[in-house]
Amino acid sequence: MRIVVKVGTSTLAHPTGHLNIRRVELLCKVLSDIKNAGHEVILVSSGAIGMGVGKLGLLGRPEDIPTKQAAAAVGQCELMYTYDKLFSEYNHTVAQLLITGDDVASDKRRGNFINTMYRLLELQALPILNENDTVSTDEIVIGDNDTLAAIVATSVGADKLVLLSDIDGLYTADPHTDPNAKLIAHISAISPDVLALAGASASTQGTGGMITKLRAAAMCLDAGCEMVICNGAEPENLYAVLEGQTIGTKFSKE
Ligand code: GLU
Repeated sequence: MRIVVKVGTSTLAHPTGHLNIRRVELLCKVLSDIKNAGHEVILVSSGAIGMGVGKLGLLGRPEDIPTKQAAAAVGQCELMYTYDKLFSEYNHTVAQLLITGDDVASDKRRGNFINTMYRLLELQALPILNENDTVSTDEIVIGDNDTLAAIVATSVGADKLVLLSDIDGLYTADPHTDPNAKLIAHISAISPDVLALAGASASTQGTGGMITKLRAAAMCLDAGCEMVICNGAEPENLYAVLEGQTIGTKFSKE
């Protein structure tokens, strides 16, 4: 099975902005094990800006583009250093791909990107993608990694896209405030009623929240790629997803 896993800043880092070491170690262990079992794994990872903020000792997430881009440049290094180190422990080789809106809008560049992805998978490498935040400006930005992950999953014909979030999935109401909120196990189409639930299930940190996840789901449903939103606090949830168990919210036509 070819599986794309997207992990957000709120899963990778503590609220202090520093790396959640236990979580990231467990994630790399589980992904390595899944790869050892014969699956192809692609990781879409956020966290560049967040880690750059921590490393540069900035007081908070920057609002202005130059500081955001500078933080991303610093944080992306730290992020890949961490992944390289942890995946190396399990004998897996990582590859970094930084892309932006221009790279997927142009057929030629998209073709190049897809060819590189296929070759990396043939070479048994583990591609790790992020948006190239250092050069992304408003005109060309993809903007959030839920969308980037859906672009990646549908471009390489992935069987599953798993969005690891800080929430268990899509709820009927806001689970933080409504005790009657119920987790929705399965969605087969992104109707206006489903979109209306996005606000209720917004995650607390990160760029995307639920609306970008539902847009990603719409892209996946169109392309026949199953998508699952589940809680990244327990990376072992990925085993359950691969086994087809009911976990989080699954988006598939049937
Ligand atoms: N590319 C951004 C980062 O690495 C994150 C975008 C997102 O979280 O959707 O910080």
